[in-house]
Amino acid sequence: MMDFYQGQEILLQQSTCMVDTEIVALDLAAGRILAQPLIAVADAPSFDNSAMDGYAICGLDCPQWQLMGTMAAGDSQQISLQHGQAVRIYTGAAIPEHTDAVIMQEHTSVNDNVVTSTHTPIAGDNIRRQGEELRQGAILLNKGALLNAQAIGLAASQGVSQIEVYQKLRVTVFTTGDELVNASTALHQHQIYDSNRPMLLACLREHALIDTIDGGILPDNLDIIIQTLAQAAKTSHSIIICGGASVGDRDLVKPSLQQLGEIEHWKLAIKPGKPFGWGKIQHCRVLLLPGNPVASFVTFMLLGLPALQTAAGRHILQALPECFQARAAFSISPNRQKRREFVRASIHFSNNGPEVKPLGKQGSHMLSGCVEAQVLIDIPPLTNIEHGQWLTIYPLK
Ligand code: AMP
Ligand code: MG
Repeated sequence: MMDFYQGQEILLQQSTCMVDTEIVALDLAAGRILAQPLIAVADAPSFDNSAMDGYAICGLDCPQWQLMGTMAAGDSQQISLQHGQAVRIYTGAAIPEHTDAVIMQEHTSVNDNVVTSTHTPIAGDNIRRQGEELRQGAILLNKGALLNAQAIGLAASQGVSQIEVYQKLRVTVFTTGDELVNASTALHQHQIYDSNRPMLLACLREHALIDTIDGGILPDNLDIIIQTLAQAAKTSHSIIICGGASVGDRDLVKPSLQQLGEIEHWKLAIKPGKPFGWGKIQHCRVLLLPGNPVASFVTFMLLGLPALQTAAGRHILQALPECFQARAAFSISPNRQKRREFVRASIHFSNNGPEVKPLGKQGSHMLSGCVEAQVLIDIPPLTNIEHGQWLTIYPLK
């Protein structure tokens, strides 16, 4: 069976961008993916300006300066200082011609329009120079970047009001299983509520780059699964189908996909989540998720969502799930697990740095254990874990 990281790499490389581009107002672009590099149209800052409220002075060696006027942010007048002169200046105001430094207000006193300083000014003090952050023509954001709030702010700072982004990826979500019932319906004996579809839809709806379609619950019936998937593949860029992906006689998703299209890969050496797979029906990419709720959540967060994001145009490195390092507040010896394990855990901060500890309720059917957990710990297969060892962790939001 293939290791998680190898599987993730192959899956993401196969999940190439599937969507066209469109132009949207910057106001509506948050969470979308940039389809063209964003280039600086002007230097930033675009003019020399003051970093402080204080006094712009000419003549570093003068004992005092004669106050000539005021420059506030947005003032357009042109002032030219001569040796021994100063102007009152506010943060963001343009620097008068021949200014040597801006002395911060807290270091000055003013009497009868004469400014004195408690500190000797140094050339260039408190002046933000034109272009010191960015030069006109610089690449601000690469194609494939997520337009998060900071990126929207950066684009706005360059006067951008419309921006070319990738269209949203249309994703249909199905769950399968004769035992599954929607939350609004009364349960008969041995039925269970469908938890995975609401969970996956909720995850997807947090992402503005995806348009989500609720496909509903499919019965364990080959013909119905085939018909429904074939139809959905015509209108979706991608399908997620959860459950029925294992090896039982009632696990009909794999044979359905084999008949309709192609399974590109099936099964990874991970726990929870072994029966994770992917394939396609013509151009539509299909993700097979395990039915056990924790397995479905973990494989979706670590594999499914990154794959959907790259299919939606996001740069592959940005699409990878965020991970950090933390120390083990536990040990495992010998580790006989043959599969890489993603253990639900708590994190706390000690003098040694962040430390993680597995929680109870590790069963792949125990969603409550996943809700209590703050992180997933990556436990490599057949590897002892020593107390204090640094481990890779994936935060759960
Ligand atoms: P399966 O992958 O279909 O063999 O299902 C594995 C386990 O997950 C079984 O106990 C199913 O009842 C359960 N399961 C499958 N799909 C869901 C779902 N959508 N919500 C809750 N439990 C599910
Ligand atoms: Mg099933």
